Amino acid sequence: MTESLVWFRRDLRVGDLPTLSAAGERALGLFVLDDRLLGPSGGPRRDFLYRSLSALDEQLGGRLLVVRGDPVEVVPRIAKAIAAREVHVSADYGPYGRERDAAVAEHVDLVATGSPYAIAPGRVTKDDGSPYKVFTPWFKRWLDHGWRGPARTGPDTLDWIDPDDVDVSTVRTVIPAPDGPGLAAGEAAALERWREFCDDDLIRYEDERDRPDLDTTSRMSVYLKFGNIHPRTMLADLARKRSHGAEQYRRQVAWRDFYADILFQRPDSARRNYVAKFDAIRHDTGREADALFAAWCEGRTGFPIVDAGMRQLATEGWMHNRVRMIVASFLVKDLHLPWWRGARFFMQHLVDGDLASNQHGWQWTAGSGTDAAPYFRVFNPISQGEKFDPTGDYVRRWIPELRGIGGKAVHALKDARPENYPDPIVDHAEERREALARYGELS
Ligand SMILES: Cc1cc2nc3c(=O)[nH]c(=O)nc-3n(C[C@H](O)[C@H](O)[C@H](O)COP(=O)(O)OP(=O)(O)OC[C@H]3O[C@@H](n4cnc5c(N)ncnc54)[C@H](O)[C@@H]3O)c2cc1C
Repeated sequence: MTESLVWFRRDLRVGDLPTLSAAGERALGLFVLDDRLLGPSGGPRRDFLYRSLSALDEQLGGRLLVVRGDPVEVVPRIAKAIAAREVHVSADYGPYGRERDAAVAEHVDLVATGSPYAIAPGRVTKDDGSPYKVFTPWFKRWLDHGWRGPARTGPDTLDWIDPDDVDVSTVRTVIPAPDGPGLAAGEAAALERWREFCDDDLIRYEDERDRPDLDTTSRMSVYLKFGNIHPRTMLADLARKRSHGAEQYRRQVAWRDFYADILFQRPDSARRNYVAKFDAIRHDTGREADALFAAWCEGRTGFPIVDAGMRQLATEGWMHNRVRMIVASFLVKDLHLPWWRGARFFMQHLVDGDLASNQHGWQWTAGSGTDAAPYFRVFNPISQGEKFDPTGDYVRRWIPELRGIGGKAVHALKDARPENYPDPIVDHAEERREALARYGELS
């Protein structure tokens, strides 16, 4: 019987995973704890990974081999230990993943089947084969292109080799214990959350998705990040629903594919402005800028919606999309700090932290990315709060100091700022003018 190695990465599930069908009949399941990825992750995301690995191990009947090391070195070593003819993966399109896989493929026959996306990056192109740079036409093409139905796979698709029967004792490690309790991870948890969202909130998604106080978005980003579920499974369900909510949701899932596509075309955009002219923008540096950055990180800017968002991030490792836009705009346009400083902080704290969606979400806000918000659009944190958290419940949920203030008055805090809540660290009107002046200097 041919034996192969299935190397799990961002696909921590067994359902709807074409990699498994491609891998033959008998395989060893492997996950590599790679310090180059774990290092920048931050505790909450690492913990979710560990819980996902435990769930996957259970699905494999306790037969997931987990090793710590450099994949370029350990994957070929383990493939050799079981005399695997092939190493099967779901393709990784990120800058680091592509480089790593190319290096691994120099030593083993690396077979990539499927990807974490509905349509793999690079496939949706203009008629002449060139890439799109703007979402709306790309989205139309994405819809026209279509995607496969979910793959019929499960824990029994393969006969899993028991790592105890293989000589891997020198590299085998146990799945690290998470620091504490947290969001349930793994395929069963993802499917349960998805069903719950479809039953309870999808119908209202179009109207309520911008309302952090109502908190009715799906929170599927975390499960998608680790591949506890494939977007194809979700899209198949959405196709059966046929509601405005389902259509809007499909569009949001498309943004995830779009940003992965953009990062694939332009790997440099993970670290640099997508639109180069923004390289010339003036940023603040030095001690005062660092103090403002610290206030932003700690949720004590004196702007309630910004602070609520940053405190939600610190507590839950997640933040509502609308609030992500508001806090990002505040960092870039009110504090005049570079977007990558905020993006790095997000990547350290978000459980769903994803290089493509995060860096491009930030660049959208900063004005330097694809489809970017025009630079002259500077979010007013008070009116944004009043508009999208009109009950004020979101702010009160995250800022106990403000719980005594009713309704949307909690945003402007006119004559009602409690002593234990900070004064605004900047004057928004003044910083707006300053931001516009700096953007105006760009030719
Ligand atoms: C500054 C900034 C940083 C962001 N960083 C990340 C990140 O690191 N990881 C991440 O997954 N998303 C990121 N986003 C996108 C978005 O905020 C989250 O995907 C969303 O809030 C996740 O919550 P949800 O699953 O309840 O979303 P829902 O509203 O239920 O959306 C469903 C799914 O669609 C996708 N989606 C929705 N909006 C976007 C978007 N703007 N861009 C890409 N995909 C989207 C996500 O996969 C999401 O799970 C960022 C947005 C901004 C403005």
